[in-house]
Amino acid sequence: MAGDDMFSGVPRAELARWIELAEAINQARTDYYQHDKPTLSDNEYDTYFRELLTLEQDWPQLQSGDSPTLSVGGRSSEMFNAVEHLQRMYSLDNAFTSEELDGWLSRVERGISHVPEFLCELKIDGLAVDAVYVDGNLSSLATRGDGRVGEDVTYNAHFIPAVPAVLRPSKKGAIPSLLEVRGEIFLPLSTFLQINEEQLAQGLSPYANPRNAAAGTLRQRVDRRQDELRLAEQSPTPGERGAAKIARLRAELDLSISRLNGLDLTVHGIGAVDGFEIKRQSQGYEILKALGLPVSNLARVEKSIEGVREFIDYFGVHRHDVEHEIDGVVIKVDDLALQVQLGETARAPRWAIAYKYPPEVVRTRLLDIQVNVGRTGRVTPFAVMDPVKVAGSTVTMATLHNAFEVERKGVLIGDMVFLRKAGDVIPEILGPVVEARTGSERPFVMPTRCPACGSKLGPAKEGDKDYRCPNARTCPAQLRERLSHVAARGALDIEGLGEKAASALLDCGLVEDEGDLFLLAENDLLGCEFFRREPAKGEDGPQLTENAKSMWAQVQLAKTRPLWRVLVALSIRHVGPTAAQSLAHAFGNIDAIAEAGVIELAEVEGVGETIALSVHEWFREPWHQMVVAKWHAGGVQLVDQAGESVSTELTGLVVVITGSLAGYTRESAAAAVIGRGGKVSGSVSAKTSVVVAGENSGSKFDKAVTLGVPVVGPAGFEALLAKGLDAALTTIK
Ligand code: NAD
Repeated sequence: MAGDDMFSGVPRAELARWIELAEAINQARTDYYQHDKPTLSDNEYDTYFRELLTLEQDWPQLQSGDSPTLSVGGRSSEMFNAVEHLQRMYSLDNAFTSEELDGWLSRVERGISHVPEFLCELKIDGLAVDAVYVDGNLSSLATRGDGRVGEDVTYNAHFIPAVPAVLRPSKKGAIPSLLEVRGEIFLPLSTFLQINEEQLAQGLSPYANPRNAAAGTLRQRVDRRQDELRLAEQSPTPGERGAAKIARLRAELDLSISRLNGLDLTVHGIGAVDGFEIKRQSQGYEILKALGLPVSNLARVEKSIEGVREFIDYFGVHRHDVEHEIDGVVIKVDDLALQVQLGETARAPRWAIAYKYPPEVVRTRLLDIQVNVGRTGRVTPFAVMDPVKVAGSTVTMATLHNAFEVERKGVLIGDMVFLRKAGDVIPEILGPVVEARTGSERPFVMPTRCPACGSKLGPAKEGDKDYRCPNARTCPAQLRERLSHVAARGALDIEGLGEKAASALLDCGLVEDEGDLFLLAENDLLGCEFFRREPAKGEDGPQLTENAKSMWAQVQLAKTRPLWRVLVALSIRHVGPTAAQSLAHAFGNIDAIAEAGVIELAEVEGVGETIALSVHEWFREPWHQMVVAKWHAGGVQLVDQAGESVSTELTGLVVVITGSLAGYTRESAAAAVIGRGGKVSGSVSAKTSVVVAGENSGSKFDKAVTLGVPVVGPAGFEALLAKGLDAALTTIK
């Protein structure tokens, strides 16, 4: 670190913070670039980096030669030979907000006195490489390293199908005698997830992001592995141990090579060239493409700042529609003469900026693993974490599915974990940061007794991964979940009867189970504090709250709902809206369903053997029969009134729902369509009548556009439910 006298005038606290940040960043860079194993999330790293930049803006004397803000980040490790790049490779400056983007745009405008054309590209979450072709033959492939010297990974390049060994002669010109290109080596998302599964299976930390996984894959000494195997194979007397070693080495080599085969490349820059001249970077891409190099077909030249903003916004919404992860977009000045005019800082070009989208992988502390007892008795471990903001929302919990999953993820209570939430996808723990353990972490032990009722837990049948509480009838947790499920939108849709009201009904003893719900008299609710209020002046005695009154009215209304909803409300395992519709339609009333044999049930379209068995067993249970009898006595309609209460507004339509719709869960949105006679499909095809796109809708949106299927938003969905397809289509602008 530079001498202290250089920092004269900097207050002690600021200097101390600068040193602290610089050390943390340098350590993070080593973990990230040398070991491909970050111990911080990118968001944390970026926050430190920005703080350092701000400190240096306030106290420019801090920006000494060894400041991280003046270097590109990586370093070549001794594992590989060094390769000097023909031209320097740079990092990119970042913009996280539209104000920061505006700042960059106006700096560019000031620098060249006009608004240039911009080349907009995706910022692929991979690692930067530099490839040199001499007379059309791949001469070296190197990592970025410190920007001047990278690591020689040419040997591995031969196993990456996307890296051409030889350039293709093109009509656009002869093969250049020298060509240096820069690009991103990356992994498709599916391969990244699979590699992480394999990491976890070996008790290793998962890779925090596809970039680290790609780097870990590329930076392997495959040549050494091959030599080692060759040596072992040449041994004249291998013996049993030798044979085992050969088998292990071969398996490791096969895995390394197959992982290299899974890497991909997109080229996004040109360094030294001898053999063609270009005026614009976009024109360069055309030539590279013609030479057989992989260039993205999603890059666009935008003539206006508005166009740039539209590009940023579009991929902000559609970032999951491409096969690889992107962490932002890169905006470049397209004209090469202007690039030269704008120049570079020590770390990054002034003619380009990375606009970064909100992070989707963060790091947080796993405080505890608790279990939750569901309405069918399934006991699910879930993670309780330090609240953390990820992909637009604050997350404190994530399901861990079952004890096997906890073990598979290798997480210990107290661990730092990487958490991923992509778009509208449910938050998921990727795995622990093993390197950050202190020794105070402890393993999760699956309880052997139900936390709600004390019953002995175990799998329902041998081989089941899930544990269940067998006390379906009186376990308070199951009762509460079942009772609030009766009221769910996809079931009898009783507004006001949520988890709290359900608990109150049970705790006050107003209902013993869901059977009693429809036998309640309105005044019974007065017996529970949750539903009553103090009398106002002139009223004698406590009164029902407005919420309680409206819940009561909703309960009465629920008695007239169609039979299929009643079937859903009964919490019969595996019976969702689709199976319930089929059963209601086929049998017409609940008694017929209760009496039907397994074969008869299984013959109904949409009802397979599993559902048939589950339905049959459910109706054999005496207390279940009691629930049905009580509902009957309470006036619940147990006969299919098809045509009367099931609207057929959507009959014959196939609806695809994507993204999240405010006020609906996936299930309840589907139920609303099915309830009106429509069909819900999971994939878009030419047969789809309409796609309903909620927030963060994914690739289905694009597919619909390519197939010409109409797409409506949340307003269109409401119109669809209220008035049918034509009304929904009028909401399209
Ligand atoms: P960067 O990733 O922000 O941007 C520069 C890189 O973007 C280039 O080197 C290039 O490889 C890549 N890129 C992808 N698509 C591109 C395109 N179309 N055109 C041009 N370049 C493209 O910067 P960096 O210096 O490589 O890395 C810094 C970032 O890495 C940080 O912002 C942080 O996200 C992450 N990081 C994290 C840690 C950690 O501990 N978690 C440590 C170090 C770095």
